[in-house]
Amino acid sequence: MENEGRKIPVLYLVVPCYNEEEVVEKSAQVMGDKLRRLIGEGKINPDSKIMFVNDGSRDSTLRLLHQIAAEDTMYSVVSLAGNYGHQSAILAGMMTARPHADAVVTIDADLQQDIEALDKFLASYMAGSEVVYGVRNDRHSDGTFKKSSATIYYKLMHLLGSKVIANHADYRLMSRKALDALSEYRETNLFLRGLIPTMGFASDVVYFDVKKREAGQSKYTLAKMMTLAIDGITSMSVTPLRMIAVIGFGVCIFSFIMCIISLLEWVQGKNVPGYTTSLIVSLIMGGITLLSLGIIGEYIGKIYMETKKRPRYIIDTVVWKKSEEQDGDD
Ligand code: UDP
Ligand code: MG
Repeated sequence: MENEGRKIPVLYLVVPCYNEEEVVEKSAQVMGDKLRRLIGEGKINPDSKIMFVNDGSRDSTLRLLHQIAAEDTMYSVVSLAGNYGHQSAILAGMMTARPHADAVVTIDADLQQDIEALDKFLASYMAGSEVVYGVRNDRHSDGTFKKSSATIYYKLMHLLGSKVIANHADYRLMSRKALDALSEYRETNLFLRGLIPTMGFASDVVYFDVKKREAGQSKYTLAKMMTLAIDGITSMSVTPLRMIAVIGFGVCIFSFIMCIISLLEWVQGKNVPGYTTSLIVSLIMGGITLLSLGIIGEYIGKIYMETKKRPRYIIDTVVWKKSEEQDGDD
C-alpha cells in the first residue's frame, strides 16, 4: 500500500532507559522480534533499527545495552552524560535518529505500551500522517492515585488552553518532516506532549492497550511527575499569570469595599471586635500573595533557564553500526 508516494520507511524505535536493568534484555528481544516481523512483511525497510537512549542509569543498564548492541547491528545505543529526564532522553534519541530514519516511534522500555500497535502506526504513516499519537484505551494497570491525578491533570491542561492529547504518553510516531520541524524548537523547557500538537501537520490517533510493567519499578517518582505536570502547564500556557491578575483585581475590589465599610463604622463610632475578620483577611491575602509570587517565580525561573540557552542533553557516546558491517567499534 503505497499512498501519496510514500516509500516503505526506515523505522527507528527510540527507547529511553533509566535504571531498566531488569527489563531491558526482554524489551530488546520483544522489540527486535517485532521489527524483524515487520521487515519480513515488507512494512518497514530492513535498515530499521532500535535506538536505546541510556538516560544516565546508575545500574547495569548501560553495560547490558552495549552487550545487546555488540551482538546485533539492529540495536544502537545513545548514552547521555547524565540523567536528563524522560523528555530530554526522547529528544536526544529522536534527534540522533533523524538523519537515518524516515519515521521514528518513541516507546517506553518497560513494554507497557503494546508493541503490536506499530502496524497501525505504520498504516497511518503510509496514509500520509506526519504525526501519529498513541492513546491508551484504559487505565486498568494504574493505581487509583495515578488514574485520578491524570484525569484531573488533563482537564486542567485543557482548561488552560493546552492542546495536549488526553491519555497520550509519548508513544508516538513522527515522520522525518515532523522531526525536522521539531528540531527548530530551541526551548530548554521541553514538554513534547504539549509542543508537538501545536506544530500542526496531518496527524492521527492510534489506540492501544496498556499492560502491566514487565519488570522493575516505575521510574517516575512523585517528584518527577509533579515536575512534568508543572512544566507541562507553565511551558505551554500563560493563563496562570493572567489568573493572578484577575484574582488580584477581585481582591482589590474586595479590599476597597472593606475599607469603606470599616471607615463608615469608624465614623459612626461603632467599635467592632473585628479580630476574626482581620485575621481571615490577612491570612487570605498572605496566601494569595505567596501563591501568586510562586507562580510568577515559576515563569521567571523558566525565562532564566531559557536565557542561558543550555544544551538540553549531552551525549556521552553513541554506538551505531551500519547493517552490513557487523564488526568495528564506533
Ligand atoms: N525514563 C527516563 N528517564 C527518567 C525517568 C524515566 O528515560 O528520568 C524512562 C524509563 O526508563 C521508561 C520511560 O521513561 O522507559 C517511562 O518511565 P516509567 O515506565 O517508569 O513511567 P510510568 O510508565 O510509570 O509513567
Ligand atoms: Mg512505564
